[in-house]
Amino acid sequence: MEKSISRRIGDGQSTLVFKDNWIPNYPAREVLSSSIRVCPNLLVFTLISSPGVWNREALSVFFPLNVANNILSIPLAREPKDDIWFWALTLNAVWKRIWKLQLPAKFKFFLWRMCREILPVCSNLVKRGVDLETCCPLCKDEEETVSHAILNCVQLRELWSSLPVPFVGESDADMSFIEWFNVAITQWDDDSLCIFAIAAYKMWNKRNEVRLGCTSPPSAVLNESILGLWSELSNLQDRADPPSASQAPSCSWLPLDFNCCKVNVDACKSSAVATGVGVVIRNFQGRVLGALARRATPCASVELLEATTILAGMEFARDLRCPSVVVEGDAQFEFKLLNGQSSSLSWLSTVVDSILSLRYEFSSICFRWFHVALIW
Ligand SMILES: [Zn+2]
Repeated sequence: MEKSISRRIGDGQSTLVFKDNWIPNYPAREVLSSSIRVCPNLLVFTLISSPGVWNREALSVFFPLNVANNILSIPLAREPKDDIWFWALTLNAVWKRIWKLQLPAKFKFFLWRMCREILPVCSNLVKRGVDLETCCPLCKDEEETVSHAILNCVQLRELWSSLPVPFVGESDADMSFIEWFNVAITQWDDDSLCIFAIAAYKMWNKRNEVRLGCTSPPSAVLNESILGLWSELSNLQDRADPPSASQAPSCSWLPLDFNCCKVNVDACKSSAVATGVGVVIRNFQGRVLGALARRATPCASVELLEATTILAGMEFARDLRCPSVVVEGDAQFEFKLLNGQSSSLSWLSTVVDSILSLRYEFSSICFRWFHVALIW
């Protein structure tokens, strides 16, 4: 079980080079280096030269070549991000449990966004470079993080204590939301989990209304609306079956709008060192606007290489100023991640986040998976 617990590097400020488990395929204790004795508490950020770039020189000082190459294969976030622990197996189980809930998809996705800590709370917006106060708009006292906004804000205490959702009072301001949720989810039955999802969603909406200058409804009114909605949903007789999380998206051909471009991406991995990315961009008539083929830096896994290829395709489309794009490729898992049909908190998600942050460069974007070469 310990093997599945690892550290995902954000800015490297809270991960110990020689004590934490953070290098793919190398448990920390197996990375032997004489430097351990000299600087046992070295932090990973000393190995990063600038945001998103490993310091090759520093790596070569501390690690043998094979380990340094493994580290170079770890994607780094281009925007400031905290290091986090991830439990790949547990999170997959969390996702499966959320997905099976008899709830409208908006509540499930909201819950999942909380687990990924990607809600646009003030602390996250500031990390993305938005110039605003980080303090909570409700209590105006503490920093607005995901766990504060949903669990710990003093303004929410009365409401949480009036709802039949145990364990919320056990949350701690120092814990990340997912740390707390990983434990809470094992304590709840599906009803508690559904009520938690609805309540968190409504509390988030209330928070946004207050931010926009509206007055906050009293706790009793919110309590009634949360439990009322839950009772309505649980009484629905003819609930549709939840869509399968493993269902492949449709790969039928769709005509493109006149300003839409198609970005075909393909990763090539013929050996551990010979890897490449290929991108072809065509306009709506099928005319090639640009093509790109280049060697890729070695990646820890085929999945990472495929995600890196999609990122290269999106960056190429942005540089060619394509207004809207359909991105196509045969990397099934990565396309599921991009379409919110699957999840990953591993290194892969750093690249997926970089891809998703490029969405705003285009007026519309669609990720389409296909499993055979698609001919225009
Ligand atoms: Zn607050």
